[in-house]
Amino acid sequence: MKEYKTVSRRKMLSRGQMLSRNLAFTSLLPVLSWIPLARVRAAEEMPALSLDEPMAKSLQYIHDAIQVPESVRSVSEAFCHNCQLYTGDTESQWGPCAVFAGKHINRDGWCDAWVRKG
Ligand code: SF4
Repeated sequence: MKEYKTVSRRKMLSRGQMLSRNLAFTSLLPVLSWIPLARVRAAEEMPALSLDEPMAKSLQYIHDAIQVPESVRSVSEAFCHNCQLYTGDTESQWGPCAVFAGKHINRDGWCDAWVRKG
């Protein structure tokens, strides 16, 4: 009966291969360190949501929730800044929202998808 030895993949790599892989990974570190910063910059540069966008219209989004009649906005303390879907920081006037990807919404705004922050 033939015996098969289990050899881990790591043992099969030569020193040269290991060294070249480590060098390749190390050379990528400066690039990798820029990725989170690039994401932050991209988020900062997002345009404000236009009220003319079809999704904004369908959800009746508005930058200033106070202007929405009570018959439409039934919860008077409903604002983007206390919505579960708002992902911006609490200090900024504008921030991202899970519904309107790639756009900033006003923290004092509102739309029909509002969900109380838990
Ligand atoms: S889902 Fe929430 S945070 Fe987003 S626009 Fe509507 S009310 Fe504002």
